[in-house]
Amino acid sequence: MERTLSIIKPDGVEKNVIGEIIARFEKNGLGIAALKMVHLSKKEAEGFYIVHKDRPFYGSLTDFMSRGPVVLMVLEGENAIAKNREIMGATNPEQAEPGTIRKDFATNIEENTVHGSDSPESAAFEIGYFFNAFELVR
Ligand code: ADP
Ligand code: MG
Repeated sequence: MERTLSIIKPDGVEKNVIGEIIARFEKNGLGIAALKMVHLSKKEAEGFYIVHKDRPFYGSLTDFMSRGPVVLMVLEGENAIAKNREIMGATNPEQAEPGTIRKDFATNIEENTVHGSDSPESAAFEIGYFFNAFELVR
């Protein structure tokens, strides 16, 4: 069993596809261990994406991530980190495989609908950034 952090980004919430996205995780064998909807502040988005602080898109990415509510989830299952990344598709929706969330819903490389941790280390940091032990309900 492995856990990963998933975010339905502001564009996904705006497009009204929260349910469709969660259904894709569940249909692919990932369970939900924690879930909440929040509106991140600019500072909270900056802290979450601190690894990208020197990238040219850091300012606009954190503006985007704080412009409206997001859905935060901890997904769990076998190989949850890799499985979630597969279901999400490539960062740039133009390069994402057919049937992936980003291919089907993303607007562009920045507004790409979902986030998923990319390693056990980032999953541990990202889950701890948003959830405490009491909120991990299984
Ligand atoms: P991923 O989310 O697939 O792990 P990265 O970790 O490389 O991708 O980037 C984090 C997020 O930053 C992306 O999901 C996307 O929202 C945004 N992003 C990545 N590359 C760019 C870019 N070239 N221009 C604008 N935004 C970008
Ligand atoms: Mg990443």
